[in-house]
Amino acid sequence: MGSVLVIGAGWAGCAAALAAARRGAEVTLLERTDQLLGTGLVGGIYRNNGRLTALLEAEALGCGHLFEVMDQAARHKDVEFPGHSHAALYDVGQIEFLVRRHLLAAGVQVRTSARVTDVRIKEDRLTQVELGEAESITADIFVDTTGSAGGIHNCGRFGNGCAMCVIRCPSFGPRVSVAAKAGVLEIMGMRGEGRPGSMSGSCKLCKDSLDSALVKKLETNGVVVIPLPAVLRHAELENKACQQYNLPAFKENLVLLDTGHAKMMSSYFPLDLLQQIPGLSQARYVDPYAGGMGNSIRFTAVAPRDNRLKVDGLDNLFCAGEKAGFLVGHTEAVVTGSLAGFNAAAKSDGAKLLTLPDSLACGDIIAYSNPNRQKERPRMQRITFSGAEYFARMQKRGLYLTDRDTVQGLVKEAGLINIFSK
Ligand SMILES: Cc1cc2nc3c(=O)[nH]c(=O)nc-3n(C[C@H](O)[C@H](O)[C@H](O)COP(=O)(O)OP(=O)(O)OC[C@H]3O[C@@H](n4cnc5c(N)ncnc54)[C@H](O)[C@@H]3O)c2cc1C
Repeated sequence: MGSVLVIGAGWAGCAAALAAARRGAEVTLLERTDQLLGTGLVGGIYRNNGRLTALLEAEALGCGHLFEVMDQAARHKDVEFPGHSHAALYDVGQIEFLVRRHLLAAGVQVRTSARVTDVRIKEDRLTQVELGEAESITADIFVDTTGSAGGIHNCGRFGNGCAMCVIRCPSFGPRVSVAAKAGVLEIMGMRGEGRPGSMSGSCKLCKDSLDSALVKKLETNGVVVIPLPAVLRHAELENKACQQYNLPAFKENLVLLDTGHAKMMSSYFPLDLLQQIPGLSQARYVDPYAGGMGNSIRFTAVAPRDNRLKVDGLDNLFCAGEKAGFLVGHTEAVVTGSLAGFNAAAKSDGAKLLTLPDSLACGDIIAYSNPNRQKERPRMQRITFSGAEYFARMQKRGLYLTDRDTVQGLVKEAGLINIFSK
């Protein structure tokens, strides 16, 4: 068995490292900040709409372990909010520790505060990555899961400036793409107003700064929907990274979800307006700190790849998560991360690589989000099991299934039961 080096420990990188380790590879996971999970540290919503199907498929395929970890940290299950059914919400304060423990138990070597700054290539193979001038690491196979959030220059050029988000570029240095460093020409997403990238779609409010009756309701139901008078309808839906929430209800109301903090489903909201909303007169932001002004810019750096998640032009580089397409979400990152990690380990072993069939939502979304299709489609769409364009496709193709036995049957029919665990 060879060695697999995974760079970037968001949900995609954690899933890739886990899948590669479970397939027997010697795996190291590098993360530039001091915590795992990247943007997953401020997310929390899963199992909503078509994400439930993906989760059931992952379970049947044998790569559902990280969803079990999410369930261990769940604050709420079966939450309904505008346009979304059967959502679960994990606690953003608990999840990192649980994931780290799970990866260590699976034998993954986890290194934080380890930022890749450059790569070396020989012909069409990556040979090593460099961590500043002090250290280089070699491996047989590499996985780029560095995401697409930030850095400051993108948030400045394409957004409202650095909003001091969880990515913490000033402290740890901005995101560096391994694929781009290896000479791959990345693809930039566009948004409604013709600008590159999109703006992250939610902020976290400190619960202690909110009215106690509001907090009680939020903690009981998992969700609070506050109708907004026209003068306070601030949300710019067309800018959002998460198009599954580009619904009028998210402009007409302030939607709060309980993920430990109060997750406000708006890209940003000027503080003086926010504080005019009943129950929020003393509201303050936890993430991003300048949530009154803006949020992180994402989807400026997607790598061309095939449906096995191997990056075009390089023989031993795979990718997953936001790096692998205009894919939004933890579930999407875990599904693609699992395939990339599994195939990285298979490649290190000289084994055949796996492609998931389009009879499964997980295979279909990987093919559908392939950035090489962008010639046929505009770069405006963001793709997620949970809404917008792709969820409509799932429904149309009969892929949106919520019954465990039916999903198991489909996976069995494809001959893929527990494939990731074999
Ligand atoms: C504010 C916000 C709220 C969100 N809420 C939700 C939600 O509730 N539910 C949901 O499903 N999705 C949500 N999302 C989207 C979701 O978090 C992402 O789409 C998904 O988790 C992306 O995972 P990823 O691993 O591809 O990328 P990322 O999470 O961006 O992880 C990439 C990681 O790579 C690291 N990295 C980058 N460069 C290097 C380098 N050179 N060396 C080492 N490490 C590097 C980064 O530090 C980071 O940890 C949210 C996103 C944001 C920003």
